Amino acid sequence: MRDLALLPKAHLHLHFTGSMRVPTLVDMAAAYGVRLPEALIDNDPLRLPPTERGWFRFQRLYDAARACVRSEADMRRLVHEAAADDAAEGSGRLEIQVDPTSYAPFVGGITPAVEIVIDAARAASAEHGIEVGVIIAASRMKHPLDARTLARLAARYAGDGVGEVVGFGLSNDERRGDTSQFGPAFDIARRAGLAAVPHGGELLGPDHISEVMRELVPDRIGHGVRAAEDERLLREIVDRGVALEVNPGSNIGLGVYGEASEVPLRTLVDAGAEIALGADDPLLFGTRLVDQYEIARTAHGFTDAELSRLAASSIRASRASSSTKARLLADVDAWLAAPDPADAFGALSAGGTVTIG
Ligand SMILES: [Zn+2]
Repeated sequence: MRDLALLPKAHLHLHFTGSMRVPTLVDMAAAYGVRLPEALIDNDPLRLPPTERGWFRFQRLYDAARACVRSEADMRRLVHEAAADDAAEGSGRLEIQVDPTSYAPFVGGITPAVEIVIDAARAASAEHGIEVGVIIAASRMKHPLDARTLARLAARYAGDGVGEVVGFGLSNDERRGDTSQFGPAFDIARRAGLAAVPHGGELLGPDHISEVMRELVPDRIGHGVRAAEDERLLREIVDRGVALEVNPGSNIGLGVYGEASEVPLRTLVDAGAEIALGADDPLLFGTRLVDQYEIARTAHGFTDAELSRLAASSIRASRASSSTKARLLADVDAWLAAPDPADAFGALSAGGTVTIG
């Protein structure tokens, strides 16, 4: 039972506003005189039965939180705190996802909004000893031409250096929008060398994932857990080397699964899928990165060796440089090679004399 916060890992599914600490949200709301819904502050999404958790409630709370981010300083604070929190949880690589549209009106446009996030990501990386890359995400709720505009903007800042844009996503309610209409935006992103990382297969099942695979040609799928319901699809995902950003806390928070043990993590891993566990929106779901690994350990019986393979998988699925990947993977091996504290205790109590004082 090694310490999971010390296990080196990459965090590939974290939304900008959703990463916010509750006290930070409370601070910002107070500064702007915004009255927050109680559910955002008590940080206990699970007090509702799974059938009442649902997308619309989530969307309403997310919008309320986003309405409190209104300045360059707020945006920088979010990136810095997300990087600090991730680093404290053993993450060596964070790829944070942002739709700059919502923040654009407060900072003079969409381009400055992106520049601020990139600049903050670079500064936060240096300050907290973690690499932060940026994913620009379009929304399914908006016109597909909007997505193309965002893809062109993302392409302009594409790069594999720290703080640069590494991917292009598509987020928001999976049931909205025509997936095929977003294909051209992903073509623009792909031509710029960006990873295609659309959401899919959380609220909707295998048909939706097949459509995302066909129309958007993803490198990774945000969620994709419900591929577990279709063996042939899962095989295709594995064969094509598409990684799945699995967020158990989110699945439970949205009532997709009633409890942690129902998230089909074993099925996905046993099929050979490349998995990157992520927190999605800690602010809304009340669980952070290490909690996802704790779920794998306690609800699914993953051993330390299996957990180290999950962490390695997240690192491989990231857009980190090959040298960063090699360094983090070596650190994962070192984590597993270190003695298990439980063994040390076992050896002591089995054979040793314990001296107190
Ligand atoms: Zn997400």
